[in-house]
Amino acid sequence: MQRIYLDHNATTPLDPRVLEAMLPVLRDGFGNASSIHWYGQQARAALDRARGEVAALLACSPSEVVFTGSGTEADNLALQGLARAAREPRRRVLYAAVEHHAVLNTARSLAEDGWPVEAVRVDADGRLDLEDLAARLDDRTAVVAVMMANNETGVVQPLADVVRLARARGAAVHCDAVQAAGKLPLDVSALDVDTLAISAHKVYGPKGAGALFVRRNTRLRPFLRGGAQERNRRAGTENVAGIVGFGRAAGIAREEGAADSARIAVLRDRLEALLAEGAGARPNGGGARVANTANLSFEGVEAESLLMALDLAGVAVSTGAACAAGAVEPSHVLRAMGLRPERVQGSLRFSLGRGTTAEEVERAAAAVVEAVARQRAAALRR
Ligand code: PLP
Repeated sequence: MQRIYLDHNATTPLDPRVLEAMLPVLRDGFGNASSIHWYGQQARAALDRARGEVAALLACSPSEVVFTGSGTEADNLALQGLARAAREPRRRVLYAAVEHHAVLNTARSLAEDGWPVEAVRVDADGRLDLEDLAARLDDRTAVVAVMMANNETGVVQPLADVVRLARARGAAVHCDAVQAAGKLPLDVSALDVDTLAISAHKVYGPKGAGALFVRRNTRLRPFLRGGAQERNRRAGTENVAGIVGFGRAAGIAREEGAADSARIAVLRDRLEALLAEGAGARPNGGGARVANTANLSFEGVEAESLLMALDLAGVAVSTGAACAAGAVEPSHVLRAMGLRPERVQGSLRFSLGRGTTAEEVERAAAAVVEAVARQRAAALRR
C-alpha cells in the first residue's frame, strides 16, 4: 500500500539534506560544546553555525537565539520566564483561548502558583478578539501570549495589533511560531515581539530541538538550573546533532519556505474543493491561514472513526482532539470558536507538506469521500 501522510502539523519527515548534515556529527562529533579541547571546539563551531542559520530565519542576532529541547520547552521558558521576571505589580498573564497546550498548561501552572491568568476570546473564524484583549490588558499585565498560526486550523493571528495593544500597556509579548516557521516570514524586528518559539521537527528537522528568540535585554527567569549554557538561559549540555539538523532545516526553510507554501496552497485548496463537493465538508477557521492546513467538518460523521478508516486505507490525518489518559477531549480550539459539539466531533485536520503531491491529494480525497459515504450510510441503518 502506498501510504499518504497528511499530518505535517503533528510532525514532518526529516529532510534528506538535514540527515546528511547530522550524520557526521552523530558519527564523530561527540564533543561537549563547553569543553576547551579540540573536540569541544568542533562542537562549539557546529553550534555557532546552526545558531547563525536559525538567527537568519528569524532575522535576529545569533546571541538572541536560545536552543531548547522542544517547542514546548521554548513556550514554557518564555511564559514562565517572562512572568516570573516581571517587576511588581506586573503579574497578569493573558493568552489566546486557542493556544497550544504548551502555552495553555504553562499558563494554568502559573495560575496554580497564584498568578492571575486569563484566556482571551477568539471569534468564529478563530481569530483573537482584539476588543476582548484591549479590555483585559492593564498596567498590571506582565505577558500576553498569542500564537502566530494555529496548529489545528492554520488560522493566522493579528499579531501586529496584539503587539501594538500590549506595548501601549507596557506588557511583554510571547509568540508561539511553531506552526508558522517555514510557512510565513518570521522577521522578529518587524514583529516586535519579546520572545518567539519555534521547533525543529515541524520544519523537516529532528525531534528534540527547539529554539526561543529572546530579544536583547529582555528580563527572563530560566527554569532549568545547572551549567551556564545558552548564556545562562538554558542549562544542560547541548544536543549538538539535533541543533545542527535544526540549523540546516532552518536554512532550507528560509530559502524554500515561500515557494513551498505557494505550491502547497494550491494543493490544499484543491483538497478542500474536492471534499466540499464529494463529502459536503465545511472548513473550520476563516481569514488568513497558513497554506498547508485544512480543518474540515463532516456532518453526521464521527471524526475518530473516520480517522481510523482512513488509516486503514493508508491515509494519515488527525483530529484536533487531545487524547489524555485514554479519554478523548474534544478540541479546545474548535470549541473556543463556538462550534457546536456535533460539528467539533466531526472535524478532521489535514496538513500537507513539502513532499505532498497532486496525485496524493486526488487519492486521499477519493478515500475520504468513500469513507464518509460509508459512515453516513452505516449511521442511517442504526
Ligand atoms: N506550539 C504549537 C503551535 C505546536 O503545534 C506544537 C506542536 O504540536 C508545539 C508548540 C510544541 O512543540 P514540540 O512538539 O516541539 O514540543
